[in-house]
Amino acid sequence: MEHKNITEFFKACTPAVQERLLSDLLAIMSQRLDPNLNSIHKERLKEQGITCPYCQSEKIVANGKLNSVQRYWCRACNKHFRETTGTPLAWLKKKDKWLQYLRCMLSGYSLRKSAKETGISLQTSFDWRHKVLQAFKTMSPEKFTGICESDDIFFLESDKGNRSLDRKARRRGGKASKAGISNEQVAVIVSCDRNGHKDFQVVGKGRISKNDIDKVLGDKIDEKAILCTDSHNSYTAFAKSKNLQHQKIVVSKGQYVKDQVYHVQHVNNMTSQLKKWLDNFNGVSTKYLQNYLNWFMVMEHLKDSTKKAGQFAFLALSYNRAWFEFKELVTNQALFRT
Ligand SMILES: [Zn+2]
Repeated sequence: MEHKNITEFFKACTPAVQERLLSDLLAIMSQRLDPNLNSIHKERLKEQGITCPYCQSEKIVANGKLNSVQRYWCRACNKHFRETTGTPLAWLKKKDKWLQYLRCMLSGYSLRKSAKETGISLQTSFDWRHKVLQAFKTMSPEKFTGICESDDIFFLESDKGNRSLDRKARRRGGKASKAGISNEQVAVIVSCDRNGHKDFQVVGKGRISKNDIDKVLGDKIDEKAILCTDSHNSYTAFAKSKNLQHQKIVVSKGQYVKDQVYHVQHVNNMTSQLKKWLDNFNGVSTKYLQNYLNWFMVMEHLKDSTKKAGQFAFLALSYNRAWFEFKELVTNQALFRT
């Protein structure tokens, strides 16, 4: 059957049948995932090599096996660890639940619905979501080349955060008490090049500075890249300091495309998609905003993939600092990570 026919068929079904079909489909997807979890993990190790989850050093020594799990010793920080330390494989006792949970995330279920589907508490649902999202930061591109568009966007600060889930968040789009960009607003730098690299980074409160841009793009933008932005002074200063070619698009003066190739339309489109997507969550706490940006990055990356579930799991396993950074994040009182 053609994809279009299936879609039509699905639309014609009653909501109850649709629900059942969806859960059957998810079960099929999970079968594709389940037996692969360990091999996905092995694949990751082969691709990235083994590093110390505590200090990221590569100076590690194999140190025997315990219950058939390889153990290591780090010569840099003198700590012992297993090859799964810091990844979800180590912090979850019930791996089948975790896979089920990943499927819920992939389907865009709410914390509550994911908790119910998986049979875990709401608090655990929250913790798992953010541990996975923490791992997704590995999606941030390493290099921007060619034409690179960048822009800043703002979100009203929200302290919903913490793990007490009962407090109502100030909804995004709520009103700031001061007009214009103030310290009540959190800046995010959005960048993309024409080779599919996309990046979304929280930089701090209020207007962005040259240093903010430098932190996000400084090490990543190729020296031969051409930076396309609006006429923001901080971008001008950044481009100058890096000796980058810089194309400023003055949209306020009716300019949209320069020399037929220089524009900021990709970055603008991405920004509006991001905002629409974030509206699905009932107000995102500033403290966890970067995690949601990581999630969006992953969804963008997997958009056209035919092996979404497998790749989603691969990425969730791909960062052995996820657990440690999650702990730091939840115990940190400040709204921002430094
Ligand atoms: Zn170490």
